[in-house]
Amino acid sequence: MLFLIVFFPIIIGFAVLNTNRESETIREDRIRQCETMAEIGAATVGQLLESTIDKGILSEEQVFDTTYVPIPRSNPPRYHTAYDEFTDRRLQKVPDSYLNTEMVVFTVAVDRYGYVPTHNTIYAQENIDNPKNRTKQMFEDKARLSLEAAEEPQREAYQQDTGEILWDIFAPIYVRDHHWGAFHVGIFIEQIDREIAAARNRSVLGLGFILLVLVITVLLAASTVARPIEILRRAVEKTGNGDFSHRVSIGYCTELQSLSKSFNQMAEKLDHKTKTEWMQKAAMKEANTKLQQMVVTDELTSVHSRKYLFVRLIEEIAAAQRTGNKLSVIFFDIDGFKHINDRYGHRAGDMILVHVVNRIRALLRPYDVLARYGGDEFVILIPGTTQAQVREAAERIREHVSGSVFEVEGNRLKVTLSIGTTTLDRFDDESPEKTADRLLSEADERLYQAKRRGRNCVV
Ligand code: GH3
Ligand code: MG
Repeated sequence: MLFLIVFFPIIIGFAVLNTNRESETIREDRIRQCETMAEIGAATVGQLLESTIDKGILSEEQVFDTTYVPIPRSNPPRYHTAYDEFTDRRLQKVPDSYLNTEMVVFTVAVDRYGYVPTHNTIYAQENIDNPKNRTKQMFEDKARLSLEAAEEPQREAYQQDTGEILWDIFAPIYVRDHHWGAFHVGIFIEQIDREIAAARNRSVLGLGFILLVLVITVLLAASTVARPIEILRRAVEKTGNGDFSHRVSIGYCTELQSLSKSFNQMAEKLDHKTKTEWMQKAAMKEANTKLQQMVVTDELTSVHSRKYLFVRLIEEIAAAQRTGNKLSVIFFDIDGFKHINDRYGHRAGDMILVHVVNRIRALLRPYDVLARYGGDEFVILIPGTTQAQVREAAERIREHVSGSVFEVEGNRLKVTLSIGTTTLDRFDDESPEKTADRLLSEADERLYQAKRRGRNCVV
């Protein structure tokens, strides 16, 4: 577009200049052509008159005769001279020979006083042998007559009776070195103007064609450049929106090719960097999750950790306080666990811990919370349960475990549990943390009582 904006005025300016120069050239050419015609006409008439004298047909006095005898009853007035009969017959051929171009309107030899001793036959409708019909007018344009003696051809604008503007171009006629008159060539200015207009039209057509070719070329070039730029723009937009996998491929124009190559390299680096960052983040997230799980889960038995138990207990206490629901706690410990470790090994002890919690887990509701308190001690939070109900639940657990046989490394083992229970039925003016400690202490105390009562029982 910029190209069009800059170059259009230059091209148009150049074309206008060229057309004007061409117009001037046409005008000058035509004028020179007519000047040459006038000079040749003048020389021919001069020689003809000289040879007339040389041959003794007319004397020099007769050729230069200025006694203009009026022809009676002629209107406009016409005149005779001593030589007009000769010139009218011999000279007429000279001007006639120039009347074959469209441009030339008249050609005529005129003596130094404006007397026209002959006429163009193409305008003579009547019989020229009749002396009456011979045009012997006087032109009395003094200004023009004064110019006729000049050596160089002259020209003057001249308006015809019809209103048309002509140029009268004339050159002096000399007979034996004496100024006899002038040879006039009349040309149509309009005809020259028509030629100029035609030349202008040709120029405008040529200019139009050049501009058309130029516009098409520029538009083609613009679309050739605009398409890859649009491809690159979209690629940059996608990359800006975080899609680093986008690549571009431009098959032409070396500069744009190298630009697209640079873009692809940049996108490649960004893509690689983002993927690495993403992988690092994912790995970190996974490690965090694992760490979190490690904090809230017991590694051996997969039940909740002691830490988690406290958090949940405080939440449940707050909820019970809010809703007025009961909250019970079961605290149990495997009886004589040391003995299992000692007799079957630590690994067998681990397996017993896992088996026991799995058995108990099957008896619990989804919202009960089973946590390892430490060693072979476990706590179960049972929301919405009264003291009687929790004792029943504890009894079921105890019976279920004591009635089970655990297959451990080829040995069939049996274990029993001592269980202490408690229920939150009063809310002292204390913090949930304090209440949590109190509840756990109560349950632990009852577990201790169960141990003292001989183990494998619920208190
Ligand atoms: P009691 O009936 O009085 O509870 O007797 P006990 O032998 O079970 O005694 P206590 O509960 O005090 O002992 C628990 C033992 O459990 C002590 C410790 O060596 C063992 N123990 C603690 N944690 C683990 C564990 O993760 N794996 C194994 N195999 N043993 C553990
Ligand atoms: Mg124990």
